[in-house]
Amino acid sequence: MSQLPTQRSSGHRARKRFGQNFLVSESVIHNILRALNPGEDQDIIEIGPGLGALTKPLVESGAQLCAIELDRDLAERLKQQFGAKKNFQLINQDVLKVDLASVFDNGKSLRIIGNLPYNISTPILFHLLNQSTPIEDMHFMLQREVVDRMGAEPGSSHFGRLSVMIQYRCDVESLISVPPGSFDPPPKVHSAVVRLRPRPPELQATSEAMLDRIVRSAFGTRRKTLRNSLRKELGADSIESLGIDPGLRPENLSVVDFVKLANCANQNGKQPK
Ligand code: SAM
Repeated sequence: MSQLPTQRSSGHRARKRFGQNFLVSESVIHNILRALNPGEDQDIIEIGPGLGALTKPLVESGAQLCAIELDRDLAERLKQQFGAKKNFQLINQDVLKVDLASVFDNGKSLRIIGNLPYNISTPILFHLLNQSTPIEDMHFMLQREVVDRMGAEPGSSHFGRLSVMIQYRCDVESLISVPPGSFDPPPKVHSAVVRLRPRPPELQATSEAMLDRIVRSAFGTRRKTLRNSLRKELGADSIESLGIDPGLRPENLSVVDFVKLANCANQNGKQPK
């Protein structure tokens, strides 16, 4: 029999608005911890610890753990359960408002883990990627469809804005597929655990805001050719001068192609917004 607290056994009623689906599968938790392989000398941030399914083995690993939980009731429980541990600290706040650089403040690079609230997983990802603090890696439980989009290769039907903006900054590795029955309450969708390793871009964008604009415009009208979808940003001859066929559709471009387009638009004096 599982010893994990479920929302029923804990007396906590899962809050939909906070995306609460609590992990209850011992084997999934074991596999996540094996993939993460936490070490005593490491600084780890857990986003959305909930009822503590991942928090408990993380605290036991001896790593320095900071858990960030928005729900006040859950934060209170976590404080009672782990508050006495020297390697545990809790921030009861919206992760989107937390400056990660201020958490450990020792210059070490961070490891981040979380079974994320699915309704705000993309804003959380970009919030983390925009932090000034160095991040070694991130392990997240997300909707499987989102993980598929993050890791999609050009030419695939999943390749889109999220693929380009994540792959511009990170290596993406899909690790574990997780069925709905591994959670309480079970979500409507299949989930997956992904590992993201931030690294310098293959080609640096001179303006990331412009890269965002180009990628949005190109995929906003996915079935149009670049000649039409990027009409406001670049002329067909500028696109051609980069060695890119203006008759292509966005899913046929590489991440580096998008950066070239953005750098050209930026050089031509276009504004990002
Ligand atoms: N880690 C737990 C587990 O695996 O069982 C809970 C995961 S549950 C999918 C998401 C957790 O994120 C919930 O505990 C929820 O309260 C918390 N959460 C939701 N929005 C948040 C936010 N903006 N900042 C921090 N935590 C948040």
